[in-house]
Amino acid sequence: MTQQAVTWLRCGALIDGGGGDPAEDMAIGIAGGRIVEVSPWDVLNAEAQATAKDLSAHTIAPGFIDAHVHLLFTCDVDHDATRARFESATEAELAITGVRNAQEALLGGVTTVRDCGDTKYAVLAIRDAVRDGTVVGPRILSAGAPLTTTGGHLHWCGNTADSLDEIRKAVRQMCSDGVDLVKIMSSGGAMTRESNVLQPQFGVEEMTVAVTEAHRFGRKVAAHSLNAESIRRGVAAGVDTLEHCYWRRDDGTYGDTADLVELLQPTDTSVVVTMAGIARAMLPGRESESEVERKAAVAASPTGDLATDYQWVPELHRAGINIVLASDAGVRFTPFRRFDETLQCGVEAFGVTPAEAVAMATHNAAIALGIGDDVGLVRPGFAADLVVLEGRDVSQRLGTTLEVYRDGELVADRGRILLPPLS
Ligand SMILES: [Zn+2]
Repeated sequence: MTQQAVTWLRCGALIDGGGGDPAEDMAIGIAGGRIVEVSPWDVLNAEAQATAKDLSAHTIAPGFIDAHVHLLFTCDVDHDATRARFESATEAELAITGVRNAQEALLGGVTTVRDCGDTKYAVLAIRDAVRDGTVVGPRILSAGAPLTTTGGHLHWCGNTADSLDEIRKAVRQMCSDGVDLVKIMSSGGAMTRESNVLQPQFGVEEMTVAVTEAHRFGRKVAAHSLNAESIRRGVAAGVDTLEHCYWRRDDGTYGDTADLVELLQPTDTSVVVTMAGIARAMLPGRESESEVERKAAVAASPTGDLATDYQWVPELHRAGINIVLASDAGVRFTPFRRFDETLQCGVEAFGVTPAEAVAMATHNAAIALGIGDDVGLVRPGFAADLVVLEGRDVSQRLGTTLEVYRDGELVADRGRILLPPLS
């Protein structure tokens, strides 16, 4: 076997995804779509230095992993509008929306998404089209349509089950149809008015059947959880990720975070913190895009301050619980291209460095999704999914996305998607 030529990228700062401080003036070697070497620039041999692409004015990080998105949603100004468009869309329209959103994510530096709200397997088709090279996009993990109760959260995605047998059958069907994970609506949700965000939807036994079946098929389970009882039931059933994870009593007040830490610490459960548009609108110094957005953000904020709203997250983080930072892109005010705002929300709300926020949206996310050996770190052996960010000073905030590489190929450059050359 002939050795594949190594392509070198030189960067001014390297955020490797592990959460440590950025390294300065580094070089990344890529061959066959994988990272084969990471080394300080000055020890690279002259030949490699002569051929390297010079990104020394910029920062390189692992391609972002957005662990909670809705590719088929349309980012409208209110939930009812998004729902109405979703419900009235034909399958062809859904697929076009999904492809467009997938490419928007890529332009924002996101090289992997986990979709949590398919219908009619449109996202599965997009996933396969990206994998086969038919369309350019991020790698996609799809949950299919979320499993919910009749009248429950996102029942309009079309996957309801109300008894142990129905749940067992639904999960078996989803897995054999090829979903990458199972999403279960453990509580009601804001996008479905007729559901109750402060009440669980499934019993422990029902959740357990869903998790047991999914795990039997080798699939992880993500549980949408907007209240404490839904979290307790999910943890008892052995779910892998808790989405949103609001530790709220049924009167809407927040419980003691120490109790949540105690519940989660003995488990491997990851917490996926979603910081969508309504959190982004709370970023200090950020101009609201509209009065509607500002009002919605204020209405949704428990305390009116981002760091106070999310002070439970650093507590969990310090306790060693795997924290994943995601966007919930597709919901109101949450366009896919602005993943940078979700990262900055993490910096502001959790009091972490930009490199730590990146770790929550790369390595931590990859671990939670079960792909931690393949993506999420800039280290030899990992897929060459990379994002080039403007500038090399990342001590306070990350620069805007310039270039995006997927499996070593340049797929987005300064706001434009690049098609592969004709073969
Ligand atoms: Zn969501």
